[in-house]
Amino acid sequence: MRSTDVVIIGSGFGGLAAAKRLAKSRVDTLLISATDEHLFQPLLYQVATGVLPTEEIAPNIADVLASKETVSVVRGYVTAVDVERKVVVYRTDDGVEEVAYRKLIAAAGVAQGYFGHDEWAEATFSLKTLDDAVALRGQLLDCFAAPADDVDAHTFVVVGGGATGVEIAGQIRELAVRHFTDVPAHVYLVEGAGDLLPVYGGKLSDFTRATLEKTGIEVLTDTFVTDIDGHAVTVRSGQTERVLRAATIVWSAGVRATDLSATIAEATGCATDRAGRLLIDDDLTVGDRDDVFAIGDMTSLKGYPGQSPVAMQQGRHVADMIRGKKAPGTEFVYTDKGSMAVVNRHNAVVDAPFGIKLTGVLGWFTWLGVHLYYLVGFRNRAVAVASWFKSFAGRARPGFAQAVPSADGRPDDRSDGVDTAA
Ligand SMILES: Cc1cc2nc3c(=O)[nH]c(=O)nc-3n(C[C@H](O)[C@H](O)[C@H](O)COP(=O)(O)OP(=O)(O)OC[C@H]3O[C@@H](n4cnc5c(N)ncnc54)[C@H](O)[C@@H]3O)c2cc1C
Repeated sequence: MRSTDVVIIGSGFGGLAAAKRLAKSRVDTLLISATDEHLFQPLLYQVATGVLPTEEIAPNIADVLASKETVSVVRGYVTAVDVERKVVVYRTDDGVEEVAYRKLIAAAGVAQGYFGHDEWAEATFSLKTLDDAVALRGQLLDCFAAPADDVDAHTFVVVGGGATGVEIAGQIRELAVRHFTDVPAHVYLVEGAGDLLPVYGGKLSDFTRATLEKTGIEVLTDTFVTDIDGHAVTVRSGQTERVLRAATIVWSAGVRATDLSATIAEATGCATDRAGRLLIDDDLTVGDRDDVFAIGDMTSLKGYPGQSPVAMQQGRHVADMIRGKKAPGTEFVYTDKGSMAVVNRHNAVVDAPFGIKLTGVLGWFTWLGVHLYYLVGFRNRAVAVASWFKSFAGRARPGFAQAVPSADGRPDDRSDGVDTAA
């Protein structure tokens, strides 16, 4: 059986940060991921709305880590962890493999959650994976190409008024106004809380709502989805129920843990929260194991947000303990550098440390700088700048050029990931 010092599960923000940091001390590491890419999820909405081509937000993880001689990458879906034997079991295209480890870092993220209504997944589009973004992009192209009197095709319901919901609703409306200029589009943005971007609150939430409403988006706050059936979304606000008809329903309202969280919880005796995320220890270990760590979105610790900086900082923290730069058992403390969301073209909100709150064009340029800095790879940055210029200064959508009609008439139905069925 193959063996290595460290196994990392997942090629997202947490897994990549841990792998890079371990490589600094030449720790023998195997990174196993269900997908070939390192996915920059914060820009999925831009792929879905044609601003960016897919590859700019999803460089191949093996290429990203190619210069790290002590890190190997394998595409595989982890199905079991035996913490007593210290063995990870994973499925590849060639069959089932095992690898023995000294330390394990699980960084498997989360999946979309539907508040107990998993059947809603069938009727809605989500934005968690590259395939999700490509599927939504195809749907938007189909809908905008539909005859103007096809009201369902030109109505879009976005459920969830967090950053993703705000960003996708803003961009769909912009598609109608600036790209497909002669077609109608009615966009509803549905949020259960009293504000959009409820974690920001105050001035930033007010700005977001006012900006979106000014463009014609119908914002429904204090409003809950009670049913989704085909093209009909039933929403309730107080005692009032209403049915919104739309061919495109985008769901961005919740998360739930992946299978791997349950697998690790069972193997280690670690408790989970309501969404199934691992309730990890302060030093990011799991249960009473000092050789199993979990980081990022699949965990719950001190109310830290499910955001990329948390995953990255946790990845580096664990790597530093493993490579002896921090003592084992060192408590993880998150350094909050702020959050931001794009509202629409040239408008963003930024909630920075020390009470700094930016809106409008200042927020937008801050967003631009931060996202350029964190995009992986020089080529990606260069192409992203060119695409942003074409989309936001001009009216083009470079990502739409990539959507090739498939045999069934739907554009670019990409599905080349490992089969993740249990
Ligand atoms: C649409 C969207 C917008 C977002 N916007 C922002 C934002 O603006 N700012 C921000 O800070 N954060 C944002 N986030 C959140 C941010 O992307 C996450 O916090 C971050 O990706 C978490 O990193 P992670 O390493 O924990 O998991 P992920 O990045 O999700 O990576 C999980 C990895 O695990 C792999 N995996 C899963 N199960 C298995 C298995 N069984 N076997 C092998 N591999 C497996 C997956 O293939 C993937 O590679 C956004 C998220 C989404 C979905």
